Amino acid sequence: MDWVEYRTAGKLMVDYIADYMENIRDRRVFPSVKPGYMRDLVPDLAPEEGEPWSTIFTDIEKVIMPGVTHWQSPQMHAYFPALNSPVSLLGDMLSDAINCLGFTWASSPACTELELIVMDWLGKMINLPDDFLHTRPDSMGGGVIQTTASEATFVALLAARTEALRKYRAMVDEEFEDAELNRRLVAYCSDQAHSSVEKAGLIGLVKMRYIETNDDLSMRVDCLIETIEQDQQQGLIPFFLCATLGTTGACAFDNLTEIGPICVAQDIWIHVDAAYAGTAFICPEFRKWMNGIEFASSFAFNPSKWMMVHFDCTAMWVKNSQSLHRTFNVDPLYLKHENSGLAVDYMHWQISLSKRFRALKLWFVLRNFGIKGLQEHVRQGVRLAGLFQDQITLDPRFEIPSARHLGLVVFRLKGDNQLTEKLLKRLNSEGKIHCVPASLKGIYVIRFTVTSHQTNEQDIMSDWKIIQETATALINMFKTPSGARKTINLAEAKKLRPDFGTSLLLSNSPMTPKVVNGSFVAIFENNEVVPEFVRHLGNSLKLVAKQSPELRRRIKGLMLTNKQYSLDSRIDLMNSIMANLDLTSTETPKQRRSESSEDKGDAIQEEEEKCS
Ligand SMILES: *Cc1c(COP(=O)(O)O)cnc(C)c1O
Repeated sequence: MDWVEYRTAGKLMVDYIADYMENIRDRRVFPSVKPGYMRDLVPDLAPEEGEPWSTIFTDIEKVIMPGVTHWQSPQMHAYFPALNSPVSLLGDMLSDAINCLGFTWASSPACTELELIVMDWLGKMINLPDDFLHTRPDSMGGGVIQTTASEATFVALLAARTEALRKYRAMVDEEFEDAELNRRLVAYCSDQAHSSVEKAGLIGLVKMRYIETNDDLSMRVDCLIETIEQDQQQGLIPFFLCATLGTTGACAFDNLTEIGPICVAQDIWIHVDAAYAGTAFICPEFRKWMNGIEFASSFAFNPSKWMMVHFDCTAMWVKNSQSLHRTFNVDPLYLKHENSGLAVDYMHWQISLSKRFRALKLWFVLRNFGIKGLQEHVRQGVRLAGLFQDQITLDPRFEIPSARHLGLVVFRLKGDNQLTEKLLKRLNSEGKIHCVPASLKGIYVIRFTVTSHQTNEQDIMSDWKIIQETATALINMFKTPSGARKTINLAEAKKLRPDFGTSLLLSNSPMTPKVVNGSFVAIFENNEVVPEFVRHLGNSLKLVAKQSPELRRRIKGLMLTNKQYSLDSRIDLMNSIMANLDLTSTETPKQRRSESSEDKGDAIQEEEEKCS
């Protein structure tokens, strides 16, 4: 492809992208492909001869799209948002064209200088103390764009380790190997912290303590104090704590005002991981969670999550960039330049040498949306999450086990974890909406994040309807014990025998006996109802006794209330019994009928005896 052809192909690609974004609702958010699906769609070897662009281009819909999870879809509620926006895409288009590697100031001055500027802008937008910024002349602080939040945490841990080793070496007379000291370092985070914190400890070869959380899923400070003391008694060196603002499981917040003074007293580096929630701090009303940020040594959040700067882009600030320099300092001659030491060389702030010109897309987004536009985007997401929460609270089958914060709602079906797990599996296999689970202290929840910029109230309501309908289908199925071949609901029962239960249905309001057609219908005995019910349905059915602890419990419950049974509970009970009907029987209808009624009566009788 030459640049002439590029002009045409590029414009077509822009159109393709705009179409993709505008019509993303039409696509199934979660693909139905199986592992290895692509092998059948592409050749085993790369082509010998170059192919025309038009051939390659058509393969996007054939090969790629069937296996894409559409993260920009309004029906995408899994993980946290990973949003893009038109200007962000334009930013990377240009950055990819320039493709400078930005490791030193001299390697492309604009790359470094724009990053300094936008990191200061962004820091001021969330009201970060100015010792985290580049602007204050006497501060060593500043911001840097890292690739991911995981990397930011690891970088912070490494910097904290450098400082801890330095201090410890200065304190003791003996000669110590770094590795010997490293063995004694211990770090802390809550049991809700992101797995990347564990990973940072793992690859940094330091012990990690997972501090218990309270009912709000916030780190328990009494446990923290106790753990630190125990560690110190064992001769270990507490050196690093990762606090989370907006945990991945339930968007819970650690309390920096409580944790801060403890860590400062012990000289423990606090890194604050606000990967998702950080974007919300653009709005003053959400900044309460940042209280105590002055105790932190580093802070990071992902504009690549909620802020519509597409991946990758993690904004990280440190108070003392010297500790990064000390950690990453290697200075080969070929990287020296006239302004070494005078300008920021970002290679000393990160693990890799090279860096992409990511500041461009950040700059475009900040300018094009403006602070107000970004605030409105955050508030809209929070509002829609509130709307979703309201719907859940109206449906008594569901519960919200942990308070909603920002754009994340965690919910579950009341009852066993298994039920919610099955619900999620069904939702995802249908592919109309996509969510992922979390386990909050052993409680299985579905996480529902409002992600897309395009999500509107209608989307939320229709997604909720899908969830409700799936739950209804599931609950009905769950009532069917495994091995049962058919569930018959009352509508079907009526089809088999049109006059069945009319009076019963008419009187169907709980706990209120009614007189319909001159007879008292809402209260009746098992030995009357069951044979009647079976007789009407009976011709091809055989009943089997049911040994279900669940059913037994329910009958027991009904008996214990010592009230006349409501019709609802009766019908419900009949439904579960009907679920156990055996359709395979080959006896004559007559035989079956008599047996059936007996069996049924016995089964119920038996259950009741066991319970009483
Ligand atoms: C998403 C998330 C991360 C991981 O983000 P990456 O940028 O993918 O590494 C870390 N911490 C928290 C709290 C998160 O929500």
